[in-house]
Amino acid sequence: MVLRRDFLTWCNETLQTALFKDYAPNGLQIEGKEYIGKIATSVTASKAAIDFAADQKADLLLVHHGMFWKNELPTITGWKKERIAALLDNDINMAAYHLPLDVHPELGNNAQLAEKLGFTVERRFGEQNLLNSGSLKQVKTLGALAVHIEAVLQRKPVVIGDLSREIRKVAWCSGGAQGFFQTAIDEGVDLYLTGEISEAQYHLANEMGTAFISAGHHATERYGVQALAAAAAGIFGLGVCHFDEGNPA
Ligand SMILES: [Zn+2]
Repeated sequence: MVLRRDFLTWCNETLQTALFKDYAPNGLQIEGKEYIGKIATSVTASKAAIDFAADQKADLLLVHHGMFWKNELPTITGWKKERIAALLDNDINMAAYHLPLDVHPELGNNAQLAEKLGFTVERRFGEQNLLNSGSLKQVKTLGALAVHIEAVLQRKPVVIGDLSREIRKVAWCSGGAQGFFQTAIDEGVDLYLTGEISEAQYHLANEMGTAFISAGHHATERYGVQALAAAAAGIFGLGVCHFDEGNPA
């Protein structure tokens, strides 16, 4: 058991939340009970994740995607009302860590994804150091790497580029970071991997000769929140359970 305040202070200090300019509030978003003994983790604070946390008798739902985003209507209606009501009815805290959880050099989505996929991290760069670059521990063709990624992440990636080309240098950013493709091209890598693709990236990949892989927003952001919860559980002696709803997007 840990006091909610102490748990959140540890998260905020570990992830250095104060250093980030984010478009979502990092930390506690919905207040529940004062003490935390069990954490449920999920990529997103969806209704399904909240129901899971309630079933598991968790005291805190820890997520990467919370419930409040810049430029959203501040009204509490529809799905948002249902989610908030379920949290309040069950006295469950909901805390979200967005960009700070992408960037953290050990617990972050980018670091965890690198470990899962066999990338060495050589450099963090770009906006708020959200991008990483490094090398493949084992050089692979683009086609072989795509097969490897599908096996590890359990989701078929969208791959743009010559499948027979050898990939050595790679840049990556978890989630919906397709907009950083040019920054990755400027880094001089063979491949840029992120969670999503838009129409424009197909043409950039073909015209600039930098391969592009969209490996899933959910799939690339599963691991940071689990690593954060595991680290906190070790320090404070908490129970942990993880919810994965297999979101294909
Ligand atoms: Zn995301």
